[in-house]
Amino acid sequence: MTLRDHIITRIMAEGPMRLDHFMATCLLHPTKGYYTTRQPFGQTGDFITAPEINQMFGELIGLCLAQTWLTNGAPDRFTLAELGPGRGTLMADALRACRAVPGFLDAAHIVLVEASPILQEQQRKALSSYDVGWINGTAQLPDAPLYLIANEFFDALPIRQFVRAGAQWRERQVGVKGGALHMGLGPALPQPFLAHRLEDTRDGDVVETCAAATTVISDIATRVDTYGGAALIVDYGDWRSLGDTFQALKTHETVDPLVDPGNADLTAHVDFEALAQAAVPARFSKLTPQGVFLERLGITDRAQKLAAALDGTALDAHVTAHRRLTHPSEMGNLFKVLGLYQNGKMPPPGLEP
Ligand code: SAH
Repeated sequence: MTLRDHIITRIMAEGPMRLDHFMATCLLHPTKGYYTTRQPFGQTGDFITAPEINQMFGELIGLCLAQTWLTNGAPDRFTLAELGPGRGTLMADALRACRAVPGFLDAAHIVLVEASPILQEQQRKALSSYDVGWINGTAQLPDAPLYLIANEFFDALPIRQFVRAGAQWRERQVGVKGGALHMGLGPALPQPFLAHRLEDTRDGDVVETCAAATTVISDIATRVDTYGGAALIVDYGDWRSLGDTFQALKTHETVDPLVDPGNADLTAHVDFEALAQAAVPARFSKLTPQGVFLERLGITDRAQKLAAALDGTALDAHVTAHRRLTHPSEMGNLFKVLGLYQNGKMPPPGLEP
């Protein structure tokens, strides 16, 4: 049975499916989900992420966290965590760069959160020279200072969508029509948790919510607030989400998310304001474009050092990668960085209070 047939059968039995349930099933169904059945990254995959473009991304993220650890007094036992580490490339680059920081690797207890067994296996290989452990979710993060990175993790968390109807909201949900999956609307209902969105929306506007993201952020913020540390959240999105940002990507093209469930990556833009609100009582930084963040961390110096050892097509690829990560018309503006940090402390380097 394909995942599409499985979803249709379920809808026929139980009625229309909420979008977050549809998204979670497509991405993480134990045997037919997108992430559970494949390795989606790279030129030959469905999409490419910053750490897969160039080693500088992971190196600078690692050094940014290490500098924050030093500024915070270099606690001798802390958790170094990554959410959704993909192929393990970012963490491998970060750890290699952080060898230059005395004491950091010895004090780090490396913890990964990864739902896909296939990707866990890749992470195990990429990080085979380190002592690495997996936990099932952020609720299991140790009670210790926490230094955490999440790149393109939050965009994969399941969202709900609501269409404004007067002072009420109709939820977008997946149903079946003529034997095919079909996006429909539930009845108009009051939604108290969307009361603040009555101020900035009009009839027919779509707003998105991501309950899973709020839970994850509050797990992180509780550790950071209690034990110290910092988190870097890197993703595409904006301060407040408005409109339908739900999309499916297959071999670098956008496709209809309902046509081939489980075989396309599903994402939504991250609503950073919602993350920041869930981060209280920890502090959050100004939302900063990825290009600005990387420039402040010194990516141009690092790029020039690496370039000195390259020539020909390798040098061309390196220059292209630097541009891709930072230029406003490429990933530089679309991707943003939000830092979480402890009250009374400064945000991680590259970010402002
Ligand atoms: N950070 C990596 C991969 C981004 S893709 C990079 O930048 O290359 C999203 C990652 O999050 C994948 O590793 C995926 O398997 C993982 N993931 C998605 N939803 C998850 C969930 N609910 N819990 C844990 N991991 C999840």
